Order: sequence, then structure tokens, then C-alpha cells
Amino acid sequence: MTAERPYDPRARRRAVRVAWIVGVLGALVAAAVVVVPLLRPGPRPVFQLPVACGETWRLSTYPGHDDYDVDLFPTTGEAWGRPVLASADGTVTVAGINGSLGGRTPQDPDGPRGRGGGYWVKIDHGGRWETQYLHLLEPPSVRAGQRVARGDHLGRVGSTGNSGAPHLHYEQRRGWEKVETHFDGVPSGITSDDREYTVRLTSANCPPNRP
Ligand SMILES: [Zn+2]
Repeated sequence: MTAERPYDPRARRRAVRVAWIVGVLGALVAAAVVVVPLLRPGPRPVFQLPVACGETWRLSTYPGHDDYDVDLFPTTGEAWGRPVLASADGTVTVAGINGSLGGRTPQDPDGPRGRGGGYWVKIDHGGRWETQYLHLLEPPSVRAGQRVARGDHLGRVGSTGNSGAPHLHYEQRRGWEKVETHFDGVPSGITSDDREYTVRLTSANCPPNRP
């Protein structure tokens, strides 16, 4: 028979400490296994132009805009009040006022400029993809938390916020980064604001029964 080891409180405290460290490390690894895939962007949704099916719009940028940002102007008819549509299915995360509205309206197009984006909408498309729609005429027709389908009406083209003329300022983002806009799977070519650049595209944001 061996003698029982005397009770050692220090050894016991050490064992408790080691158990804690192992537990915390295990929890961190488990959290990383869950969180890291959530941070990795998913595949790019097939975004469509945020305007009515079949319409041709001018997509442009200019020095001082911001790389990848797109301004949309219709090639025919008035810009004021034209419908702005969701580029893809998603969930509205913001629908409200960015900066200040200013006073530019169809009745007073040269009224005082506001700041920022004016009335705007932001949509989360999942997989860390996001689109933004700025300078809307009126309060958006959607609210935060609402599910939208591609082609759903978000608001109307206006000139609220820091806007020179009625147009739709539009962005696509992956994670927190702006990226080159793609429409119907094709890159727009607007990648830098070093110089003025314009491209004309026709919207394929069509109802499912009208391909
Ligand atoms: Zn813009």
C-alpha cells in the first residue's frame, strides 16, 4: 500500500486554471468555425439594373465621384419620379434619410442642395452582398427589415441630398468594400473616377414571365 498523497491546494488551483484555459481555447475555436464562413463573401448575386425592364439608361461617373460609384440617368424622358427597383432579392437594412434632404424638387430643381445621400435604401442580399440607392425623390416605399424580391419598387428617382440633377446614385458592395457593378452578370466597366466615363445599358430587370 502506498501512502495517500497529501492534499495540495496549489496543484488543485493549477488544474482548475488549465481546465479553464482549455475550455476558453475550445470555445474560441468553435466560435471561429462558426463565424469565419459567415464573414467569407458568398457568390455574387445576378444583379439587374435598378430601373424598369427594357429601359435604356446612361451609367456614368466623374472625377471626385468615388471609384465604382455609378450615376444613372434615363436616355429618354424625365429622370424625376422614375421607378427605382431592387437589383436582386434581399432584405432592406436601411430606408430613410442619409445626411440632409435639401430642397431640390421637380418644382424647384435648382433649390438648395442637401448633404449626403438624401432619401436612400440599402439592401442586404446575403453572402455579404449589398446594394445602395441614393437621392430618391420621396421617402422610400419600403421599410427596414422588409424582404424584397428583384424588381420590387423601392422609391422614385429624385435629387435629395448632395445631388446636382435628378439621377440615381447606385453602388454594389461586397463586405464593406465597394466593387465594380455587374448587371445581368456583365461588369459595367466603371472601376475608377479618374475621368468621366459613360456606358449605356438596357435593363433586364424584368418580371419572370417577361424574359
Ligand atoms: Zn453619384
